[in-house]
Amino acid sequence: MNLAADYVMRPSARLAPPFGSATRARLPAHADLVVIGAGVIGLSIAWRAAVAGMSVAILDRAEAGAGTTFSATGMLAAAAEHEPGGSALLPFAIESQGLWPSFCDELERESGVDLDFRRSGILLAALSRDEVDRLHARHAFLASFGLDCSWVSGPELRALEPGLRPSACAAIYCPRDHQVDPRALVAALRAALWRRGVPLVENCGDVSIERADGFVEGVRASDALCRASRVILATGAWTATSGLLPDGVCVPVRPVKGQALALRARDARQALSRIVWTEHVHLAPKRDGRLIVGATMEETGFDASVTAGGVYALLEGARRALPCVEEMEIEAIWTGFRPTSVDDAPILGDVDGSGLLIAVGHHRNGILLAPATAAAIVDLLVRGDMTPNAYALRLDRFKKED
Ligand SMILES: Cc1cc2nc3c(=O)[nH]c(=O)nc-3n(C[C@H](O)[C@H](O)[C@H](O)COP(=O)(O)OP(=O)(O)OC[C@H]3O[C@@H](n4cnc5c(N)ncnc54)[C@H](O)[C@@H]3O)c2cc1C
Repeated sequence: MNLAADYVMRPSARLAPPFGSATRARLPAHADLVVIGAGVIGLSIAWRAAVAGMSVAILDRAEAGAGTTFSATGMLAAAAEHEPGGSALLPFAIESQGLWPSFCDELERESGVDLDFRRSGILLAALSRDEVDRLHARHAFLASFGLDCSWVSGPELRALEPGLRPSACAAIYCPRDHQVDPRALVAALRAALWRRGVPLVENCGDVSIERADGFVEGVRASDALCRASRVILATGAWTATSGLLPDGVCVPVRPVKGQALALRARDARQALSRIVWTEHVHLAPKRDGRLIVGATMEETGFDASVTAGGVYALLEGARRALPCVEEMEIEAIWTGFRPTSVDDAPILGDVDGSGLLIAVGHHRNGILLAPATAAAIVDLLVRGDMTPNAYALRLDRFKKED
């Protein structure tokens, strides 16, 4: 196995954006809203705000998607991702999952880009008898929240996914947990913004927020100033260290590193037909023949290194589920930084009443939560209020009671 340095690449390296690489858009002199950060969250907000009739500009110090979004597998896993302690997030996750079909239809229509939205559900598989007991407990836990999930016997599982190890003896099927391709999603959002005339300013240089008398007045990037009374931070894992927060405001978001890799089957018969999760990895087949294997969870700050231990764990976990991965080509290996809050749920809405808003902390679910996040922020901008599920995720939930 060749793990030479040039074999390790960002997943973005293989995606040619539809409108050239770094777009040459300039920051306009005025906008209703400036979005800082062009990951899936910022791009989705910019698009939905433009659809709602606002004049919008969006900027990023790097290329759109190249923060964490290109690292994602693209699962829309409201059920499979639900864990003890996740009850603040669950209603919002279910809401967003429900919005995905129309979000996808509208985005595909507007952009002309196919998102590879695969409505095939997720199988949470047990690979040994020991794991079956834990899977029963997980099934009872998911069912107790009313989540759509059904028990799958060993023979049924092997009929659904014949490539799985013969010891695979049961699964939970989550029929509403679908997936998209995050690279196609970014390409589609770029195209939709371009069609609506929204400037997307990439590699924008240093960014600062202009304020006067305690209110936001606009955003400066390099030498350009865009005047706007509303600015939204969609700066993902970098929010707390961005220097863009007002003095005294703490946004508790940290990076949680994930290593993942893409394999390519040499024979179409080796492919899975839907996402399979085990206790150690998830395996997500994409239409272009890649099989995404993810992902480690590491509290190592912004250390972007690909480690032997991380790659070993992914490959071992993949081989344990799907023996034929041994014959697959390793196409890419990467790391990404999940933007993670203290309760693993996003932070949405007003920051300090100055016109500064925030949409960060989407942890393992930024792709899933993009439609509901964008809808919530646009609601706040247009109606001055958010839906109850989003309202519960405001920054002030972290305020200590006196
Ligand atoms: C391995 C892995 C697998 C994942 N799989 C899934 C999955 O299957 N499903 C799912 O829903 N989620 C998944 N996620 C999580 C998902 O990727 C994130 O939640 C999501 O990408 C966060 O999007 P974002 O727009 O908030 O952040 P980002 O994509 O990081 O975007 C933030 C942007 O802000 C820019 N920025 C930061 N600071 C500044 C500044 N000062 N000035 C200008 N620009 C700035 C950055 O350059 C970046 O482009 C996964 C994450 C990882 C790491």
